[in-house]
Amino acid sequence: MDKEEFYALAKKVFAVDDSDIVEFYGAVEHPILYCDCPRHHFHVPVYSRVIIRDVNTLEPLPHGQVGLVNLISPMVRATPILSVMTDDLGVLHDGGTCGCGITSPYLEIIGRVGLKDIKTCAAGAAELLANAGSVR
Ligand SMILES: [Zn+2]
Repeated sequence: MDKEEFYALAKKVFAVDDSDIVEFYGAVEHPILYCDCPRHHFHVPVYSRVIIRDVNTLEPLPHGQVGLVNLISPMVRATPILSVMTDDLGVLHDGGTCGCGITSPYLEIIGRVGLKDIKTCAAGAAELLANAGSVR
């Protein structure tokens, strides 16, 4: 379901306007929330950077091209995780094209790379814990 369809359904079923729907994007390893603006775009906050990388070469791509989402922030101090390469596919857009007034680039998530072996961190941790329990 695309966003416009979802907003229309929320309005029809719950009488909730899209302006009352807040979305965010994030990752467990990168505790920076990318909250949507009034036009439902995930602008990159000042304390974070996003690099879209070519899926084959990992070279940075210009705005407007689809690639792997690389999240960077110095805000994580408890662990040495400065840069996280996700398995999400996304596009960075020039912030000025949004029209909401926020000028930082915004991230559009397209989906995941589609490999069967990829698990979320939570699923991987649950599997590790289950296996650790069987070893004891
Ligand atoms: Zn915006």
